[in-house]
Amino acid sequence: MQRYSTITEKNPREIVLLRGRGCRYRRCAFCDYHEDASCDEAANLAINTEALENVTGQYGTLEIVNSGSFCELEESTMKTIIGVCVAKGIRIVHFECHWLYRRHIPALREAFARFGIAVKMKIGVETFDHQYREQTMLKGINETDPAKIADAGFNECCLLFGLPGQTAESMRTDIETGLRHFERVCVNIMIENSAPLQPCDEVRQAFVRDIYPEYKENQRVDILLHNTDFGVGK
Ligand code: SF4
Repeated sequence: MQRYSTITEKNPREIVLLRGRGCRYRRCAFCDYHEDASCDEAANLAINTEALENVTGQYGTLEIVNSGSFCELEESTMKTIIGVCVAKGIRIVHFECHWLYRRHIPALREAFARFGIAVKMKIGVETFDHQYREQTMLKGINETDPAKIADAGFNECCLLFGLPGQTAESMRTDIETGLRHFERVCVNIMIENSAPLQPCDEVRQAFVRDIYPEYKENQRVDILLHNTDFGVGK
């Protein structure tokens, strides 16, 4: 498993894939990546420390991903993250968080602010089509208004494209809505996995043909045509 990488284009940053207790929600119909998890805190800390030892601070920005939400990382790992940020002069840290945990975000911001570190929080909103998101994707976000989702403490959003029923128009609308309400948008293209909801080739092709050229140079839009495009994962 590759756990450290650098992203050199668009908001350059270092990125680490850490291991925690694992996603508590586990219901998203497209997701099968709950396996990178363990209840063994010492083993998690060993893996996470090894990944974090690669961090150089070269961009002053670090992204933390963990196949779930920041709350599913243990306190010992959080302390190690803060220690590395202080030692390497990192001033901005990005984390991921499910809607369920939004009320925990202010405490995390405060904990990092004490060391002069700003937290940027990303939510996997996947689409702003509420019906599709909750009835097909089973995402578990009980808020229809994109502004209120952002206001709950999120700076950035992830979108998931390439699924049955999506169109070039719906994907463009999602990106534009994301750009209106969030600082940055990260587009993920669905790939085959073992989850119930599987990709649709025609929709993936529509994205590559009609949407990708429009946004590939947009500095506020990251596009992962494959889920390992950031250099971490397997
Ligand atoms: S997409 Fe995220 S929140 Fe949903 S089941 Fe997977 S890890 Fe959990």
